[in-house]
Amino acid sequence: MSINNPKHIKMSDELLDACRQHLANVNEELITKAFEFCLEAHKNDLRASGEPYFTHPYEVALIVAKELPLDDVTVVSALLHDVVEDTEFNLEILSKEFGKEVAEIVDGVTKISGIFKGQEITQAENYRKLLLSMVKDVRVILVKFADRLHNMRTLQFVNPDKQRRIAQETLEIYAPFANRFGLGRVKWELEDLSFKYLNKEAYEEIARKIKSKRRERESYIKKFTVPIIDKLDEYKLKYEINGRPKHLYSIYRKMVTRNKPFEEIYDLFAIRIILDSENNNDCYTTLGIVNQMYLPVPDRFKDYVSIPKTNNYQSIHTTVVGPEGRLVEVQIRTKKMHEVAEKGVAAHWRYKENKTASEKDMENWVNWIRDIFENASKDEARKDILESFKLNLYQDEIYVFTPKGDLRRLPVGSTPVDFAFEIHSKVGYHCIGAKVNGKIVPLDTKLHSGDQVEIITSKNQHPNKNWIKFVATHKSKNAIKKWINKEEEDVVNSGKEIWEKKIKKLKLSFTTSDIAKLSTNLKYESPRNFFKSIAQNKINLDEVLTATKEKEKKEKSAVLEFGNFAEIARDDIGGVLVDGKKSGILYSYAKCCNPIPGDPVIGYITVGEGIKIHRKTCNNLLKISEKEVSKLVPVQWPESAGSLFVAGLRVMGEDSPGILTEISHAIVSYQNTNIKSININTNDSMFEGSVTLYVQNLDHLSSIIDRLKKLKGVYTVERFESA
Ligand code: MN
Repeated sequence: MSINNPKHIKMSDELLDACRQHLANVNEELITKAFEFCLEAHKNDLRASGEPYFTHPYEVALIVAKELPLDDVTVVSALLHDVVEDTEFNLEILSKEFGKEVAEIVDGVTKISGIFKGQEITQAENYRKLLLSMVKDVRVILVKFADRLHNMRTLQFVNPDKQRRIAQETLEIYAPFANRFGLGRVKWELEDLSFKYLNKEAYEEIARKIKSKRRERESYIKKFTVPIIDKLDEYKLKYEINGRPKHLYSIYRKMVTRNKPFEEIYDLFAIRIILDSENNNDCYTTLGIVNQMYLPVPDRFKDYVSIPKTNNYQSIHTTVVGPEGRLVEVQIRTKKMHEVAEKGVAAHWRYKENKTASEKDMENWVNWIRDIFENASKDEARKDILESFKLNLYQDEIYVFTPKGDLRRLPVGSTPVDFAFEIHSKVGYHCIGAKVNGKIVPLDTKLHSGDQVEIITSKNQHPNKNWIKFVATHKSKNAIKKWINKEEEDVVNSGKEIWEKKIKKLKLSFTTSDIAKLSTNLKYESPRNFFKSIAQNKINLDEVLTATKEKEKKEKSAVLEFGNFAEIARDDIGGVLVDGKKSGILYSYAKCCNPIPGDPVIGYITVGEGIKIHRKTCNNLLKISEKEVSKLVPVQWPESAGSLFVAGLRVMGEDSPGILTEISHAIVSYQNTNIKSININTNDSMFEGSVTLYVQNLDHLSSIIDRLKKLKGVYTVERFESA
């Protein structure tokens, strides 16, 4: 065979040129041979457009060469992809003429095409073979995408029914599939083309609106990018910057999901900065520049440079507040990242190949793809395997089956507990175990697409706090939290009930703040925890209440006791001197500070009660005297040598045998001080004692306090007085 038609010669040259331009190695002889073979094999067929059929495989080969450039074998396979299905030539011939590799790729493509032709999908085994054949060689998928792309680009020539069917299939299966393989550009084009045929009206309206806003958009983009460009130049970065309207289908989807008209979708375009640099750090420098120019929106920052997506997509996405307060999305990436984003697996491999020609990388890709498919095709008997294959292409979601075969969508990382709550909150609340594909598994097992999950429930089972740690859905998290809170509330309430019964029985009364004080004293974080502890029997309420009662009593008696000895002391000394002399003026002692002889005192003239004697340090007095200094009268204790007054001390410390003797000794051995009373209580290893004694003045008392403080085991010594 040889080409003699000038039109065909031109086509062949064009293809070879594209290959030379985009591929590392080009076997021109093989490509030319495939071109001739294609021409010959399809010579009797026409496309729906009326063109000779061979234009289709030819265009597909051009797409492979230009848009998904991987290698010459893929180009050859593209030229031959429809030969086996549509002509009398079989795989054997292809294998003989073009090699086993090409034959296998064509076989794979033929099988994929076959699947979608018949609507009836009954033999799972075939799908499995098909999937595995794709997995054997990633180039099968690239050819298939190129094929679908060309068919979509020329879809106007087929009848409307077929248009819809093909468009639907493309949108549901091929577009997500392309995304999975990192073929960003292919994905967008497939989506927009499908959208055009599935919802022509919406498509055309959005297209028209975008067009009508073109001038406005372009001037805005210019305004936005100028300051960034200046800075990028200053930093001597090489870049390409552009603002492209987003794809129609993505705008449409936003309108639908946000339920907003076109006019209210703000992110109609994205600014893309593509750096001509091998250094990823330049992305961050550029990010810094952008953020310096425009305020970033915190929640909308994504760093796929440090953490690439599973399809190897790398880019920085940031949304900033641009001129006029408009939010603008900016994508920052290097040239290489951009190519990988647009061309996916092909670009990825090409970059690797140029550097190291590593077979290993190709292997990694293949393993990764095999992984996707093997997980999707576990169950041979399942009729809806296509469904699971199709759905497994979404990255952030998994699809699992109920025992009845219903499909449930869950986020990646979901566990049987998430599944249980997805079915019904009751199932979640009483979930005790799970079977995945017939095997009992722990509840924190991560589910995979295609898993069949059966939940085992028990009436007596309740959610476990630990579930929170491994569940993935908000639904289950909220349900578990709700249950835990309710459970806690029940416990608190039953604790409250026990408490109220008890204090009623003991005829005690507690205000809210009393309870708060008590729980703080008992080292509880809150009264809730205190009540919980009561309900859980972790606290001996009788003990606590008895202690509280006693403490109360003690506090009361301490006040009383002090009042008593203050009275005695004052009586002993014989009243106060007002203005330096003893007079018949009516006076009394203030209850707020309860002065005793020896305290520096001052009088305050009241209406009806004569002079109130306060300690000079009394807070109450300070407050009163601020306003009415004139009502203050100097008063003193009479100075009579030899007269004594009673003072009280509270001593606390570590209990030890003989502590009482030591304290007594320390007091009496100082200037023959007399003790009026001494009383020591021990509690565990601690003691608390009160001593009343006769002193001449405050100096005398201070000396005694100093002596007591020096005793081993004594921690504190305080003057005994009312609060
Ligand atoms: Mn085709």
